[in-house]
Amino acid sequence: MIPSCQAEHVEVKEGIQKIENMIQTDILIIGAGPTGLFTVFEAGLLKLRCHLIDALPQPGGQCSEIYPKKPIYDIPAYPEILAGDLTHKLMEQIKQFEPGFTLGERADTIEKQEDGTFIVTTNKGTKHQAPVVAIAGGLGSFEPRKPLLSNLEKFEDNGVEYIIRDPEIYRDKKVVIAGGGDSALDWSIFLADVASEVTLVHRRNEFRGALDSVEKVQELKNLGKINLMTPAEVKGLIGKEKLSGVVIEKKGEDGFILDTDHFIPLFGLSPKLGPIGNWGLEIEKNAIKVDTFDYSTNIPGIYAIGDVNTYPGKLKLILCGFHEATLMCQSAYKRIHPNKKYVMKYTTVGGVEGFDGTKKQAPKAVVKAIS
Ligand SMILES: Cc1cc2nc3c(=O)[nH]c(=O)nc-3n(C[C@H](O)[C@H](O)[C@H](O)COP(=O)(O)OP(=O)(O)OC[C@H]3O[C@@H](n4cnc5c(N)ncnc54)[C@H](O)[C@@H]3O)c2cc1C
Repeated sequence: MIPSCQAEHVEVKEGIQKIENMIQTDILIIGAGPTGLFTVFEAGLLKLRCHLIDALPQPGGQCSEIYPKKPIYDIPAYPEILAGDLTHKLMEQIKQFEPGFTLGERADTIEKQEDGTFIVTTNKGTKHQAPVVAIAGGLGSFEPRKPLLSNLEKFEDNGVEYIIRDPEIYRDKKVVIAGGGDSALDWSIFLADVASEVTLVHRRNEFRGALDSVEKVQELKNLGKINLMTPAEVKGLIGKEKLSGVVIEKKGEDGFILDTDHFIPLFGLSPKLGPIGNWGLEIEKNAIKVDTFDYSTNIPGIYAIGDVNTYPGKLKLILCGFHEATLMCQSAYKRIHPNKKYVMKYTTVGGVEGFDGTKKQAPKAVVKAIS
């Protein structure tokens, strides 16, 4: 584990150490899907701290982004569990190991330092340093599908957002949301009580989202809390430096300008291996090649686990990601502590000692001796 006295101005918070704007940890995990989350637990048993980066604003990867309400039937010991509930359980299981999170940011670049550590920088400029990097990037980082508008880039983060990170920034503001799926419906419903004006624009009359959400939007429209515009599209953005309005075209009618502070197109997210593909790792069919001994890549110190990796016989399943994370952590421990010997103990025997001071241990009496 990195000693907390390593440098001046050390601030220890939620399992991470911030040194002059650098987040430092033992294992830097890229991707907070089920594989990345379970890595925190296995690393914690070895007294290694973890920090996770994810492009999405919430942990859970595909489970929380694509199918949170779908039941999974092949998680050992859970005959059935909703993907969203699995994420909650994993978060509960790792809480004691106080992981740090950089959410809503994509890991963009990696630099190897002379001391063998890596510095990973996100698209927002957040820097992270660790001796071990575990890529648990799944299908890749989920990138928003963007509308085709000529001056879109100019207004990105200046009134145009694709992900709602903090709903409070919309308080008492005028908001235009575009899209026909669950995200567009759910956020319109939520922001109806936060923003001063919510307009939902969708190019069809029918929505793809859950029926009860569609009914709720209709109800809020009748109460005058949501302006519903269908079939209609946002065709232009207006403003000097910040967005001040959008051009909306309703089918068969002339376009008009609607004043707004924010435009939030929620057209879904598509996964892309993205910048990780340029890190010098051996790539095969959009996945990272690994050694199945410990899921190490061709760059010593960088591992790839879960859906993001490939090897003969690979199966893209959650339980395979858990297994890979477990073996990877053993190898990472040896890399971080080359002179220490670790003797694996069952959690039923050794217990689980959290970084938050908690300790769980099975009472001795319930463990029968094997004669
Ligand atoms: C509809 C559906 C049903 C499924 N059902 C089952 C099932 O029943 N049983 C089963 O075992 N599996 C199932 N799966 C597969 C399962 O969801 C995946 O195997 C699992 O999610 C892989 O976990 P992971 O953590 O490796 O990757 P992911 O869940 O894909 O998480 C990877 C995370 O990494 C992030 N990321 C990637 N690159 C970057 C970057 N550069 N910077 C920052 N963040 C990045 C992504 O945003 C993402 O959140 C299903 C998948 C789908 C789509």
